[in-house]
Parts: sequence; structure tokens; C-alpha cells
Amino acid sequence: MHILHDQPAELYSTFRLKTRLASVIEVSCLADLVQLDTTAAPLVLGEGSNTIFLQAQTKPIVRFTGANITEHWLDEHSCLLHVEAGHNWHQLVSLAVQQQLWGIENLALIPGSVGAAPVQNIGAYGVELADVCAYVDYYHWQTKSIQRFAVSDCAFGYRDSIFKHQLAGKGIIVALGIMLSTVAKPVLSYQGLDTLPLNSTINDIYQQVIAIRSSKLPDYRQLANCGSFFKNPVISSHAYQQLQARYPAIPGFKLNNRDVKVPAAWLMDQQGFKGYRHNDIGCYAKQPLVLVNHGNGMAEELLALIADIQSKVYQAYQITLEPEVRLLNSDGQHYV
Ligand SMILES: Cc1cc2nc3c(=O)[nH]c(=O)nc-3n(C[C@H](O)[C@H](O)[C@H](O)COP(=O)(O)OP(=O)(O)OC[C@H]3O[C@@H](n4cnc5c(N)ncnc54)[C@H](O)[C@@H]3O)c2cc1C
Repeated sequence: MHILHDQPAELYSTFRLKTRLASVIEVSCLADLVQLDTTAAPLVLGEGSNTIFLQAQTKPIVRFTGANITEHWLDEHSCLLHVEAGHNWHQLVSLAVQQQLWGIENLALIPGSVGAAPVQNIGAYGVELADVCAYVDYYHWQTKSIQRFAVSDCAFGYRDSIFKHQLAGKGIIVALGIMLSTVAKPVLSYQGLDTLPLNSTINDIYQQVIAIRSSKLPDYRQLANCGSFFKNPVISSHAYQQLQARYPAIPGFKLNNRDVKVPAAWLMDQQGFKGYRHNDIGCYAKQPLVLVNHGNGMAEELLALIADIQSKVYQAYQITLEPEVRLLNSDGQHYV
């Protein structure tokens, strides 16, 4: 166990608002976890690419840093990787691609840790974690023991899971089981990958995803951000048809007979937020959905921008945009 006191928050959040964290405790195994005083549930953090500290944090923050991988071949084609939560997600994808193991190549370059991946069921380019996740190992603060959740018990949905709801604040993910295959299963339906030939190699897809993402999204090491700031809203088909009558160009992706997903980026773009900047807080010039901190952004400015976006989008479309990013107050509570 490694305890760091009074840390600059910029080191622990890719949005890099300047504030302080009272303590960051790094644990790497079950023995460390058992020793932790968890009577008051600590705050759990991975690599901070989906977390913004609005204020100085008084609660202890725990990070699981164990990062071992064990391979289990179930038959000649199916490989189950048991990956500890502290492993970096993109490095895991790169490793799978090197070994020609199909399943997560579309999820290349998503920042963050393996342990955070199930929390919002990370997804991109037509694939989400739920498609390959076999199980999640979860350590409970209260019982001081690990429980294995089969994928069917994780309540995975769009940017959603049981870890955001019933299990929020109850413990920490220590490992995942990820099922990959040597059999080619290209998922090329998504725009940008649909131009690739059907017999594309795993490496072709991986490289294409990296190329598209690098051209569209800012590198958080150069321009602080947390990726897509708001979730894409899901509205009823009826509400969508009504909007279409007023805004014929409004894009929508039918999820089923009842629901349509509308790109939050389009709604924000129409309201003029692309490239918006006030002092050091703004929206990325190529993609308004990515809120950015140009260096010395302040929490109050960020909150003002969020309120402005939500209000303008609501006034125009009667749609409430919900943050995908975790915004934390001083006591570790979610701001919104
Ligand atoms: C440039 C950029 C692009 C992005 N693109 C995508 C994308 O395409 N698709 C996508 O889905 N996301 C995307 N994201 C968001 C982010 O990469 C994911 O949410 C990622 O899973 C966050 O990982 P993290 O370790 O940084 O999480 P953190 O920000 O540290 O934590 C996020 C949440 O997970 C919880 N958590 C973290 N570790 C654990 C653990 N071990 N046990 C229990 N809970 C834990 C935290 O408590 C918190 O609630 C992007 C972010 C950036 C900056």
C-alpha cells in the first residue's frame, strides 16, 4: 500500500482543474484492501479520464494499481483474459491486437483503466465492453471480500451498469474477465470503418480506429479534456418525429421501436458551441461535445458553460443533456 498526502488534482484528472486531494491511497492486492479502513466508504479513482474534481477533496481516494494479466485458453479459439483493474485499457487493446485476439480492437485509444471500463460500459465504433466481458470481480468494503459478477448480473446498458447504481460507493473492481477469440469477427458497421474491406485484419481495424480518433478528438495530454462530456440523449420515437418536423436535418439512430438516440454533438453544434471559449474553458473546435480546459480553467466557469449548454439545448429541443463525466464536490458527492 502506498499513501500520498495533499496531492495536486491535475495529476489525477485529465481535465486538470487546479485543486488539491487530501490523500490518494494506492492498493495493489487483496491484502492491501483488507488493511484499508473503509468504515467511511472512500472515493474510487482509476486514471481520472472521466472524473473532474470541482473542489478540493477531503475524502481519501483509493486507486487499485495491480495490473497482472493471466491467459486461460478455453479451446483452440477462445481465450479468457483475467486482467487486474489497474491495467491501462489501451495497452490491453494493443496487447490483444498483437496476439491476434479479436473482440476489443474497436475500443482502441479509449483512455483510462481496465477497472473503470465496466462502470460506464465503455463503447466506441459499434462495440462495447459488455460484448466481451465475461465477469467482473468486485471487492466489497463492508464484507472485505471479493464477489464475482457474471456479465448477466452487471446490468450493462448504454454508458451504464450496476456499478453506477446499486454498487456505487460500495467497493472497488479488482479484475475483469475478457473473452477474446482467434476467429476474425470484424465489426465494420460504424461510420469511418464502413469503408474498410470485409476481410480487413485486426491490425487494419485497430489502426483505422486510432487514425479516426486522433483526427477527431484532442489528445488530453496536450489539451485537457474528459472526452464526450454529455451522453447522447435517448428520446421516444414520437418526440423524435415531432422534432424532425421542426428540424428536418436532426440525426437520430433508432434503438428499437420506441427509442431514438440523438447525437448530443449535433444539438450543441446547432446552438453555436463548436469552438466556443470563455477564458480557459470551452468546447473543442472540431467536436463541441468535448469540453476543454485550455490551462487555467476554473470550476465556476465550467459549471456556467454546462448550465448554458443545457439551457440552450433544452429551450430549442426540450431535451435535457446529462453529463457522462463524473463531477465531484469536496466531499466526493456527485455535483449533478
Ligand atoms: C479523449 C477521451 C476520449 C474518450 N473516449 C471514450 C469513448 O470513446 N468511449 C467511452 O466509453 N469513454 C470514453 N472516454 C471516457 C473514459 O475514457 C472512460 O470513462 C474510462 O473508462 C475512464 O477510465 P478511468 O480509469 O480514467 O476512470 P476514472 O475517471 O478514474 O473513473 C471513472 C469512474 O469509474 C470508477 N472507477 C474507476 N476505477 C474503478 C475501479 N477499479 N472500481 C470501481 N470503480 C472504478 C470511478 O469511481 C468513476 O465513477 C474518453 C475520455 C477521454 C479523455
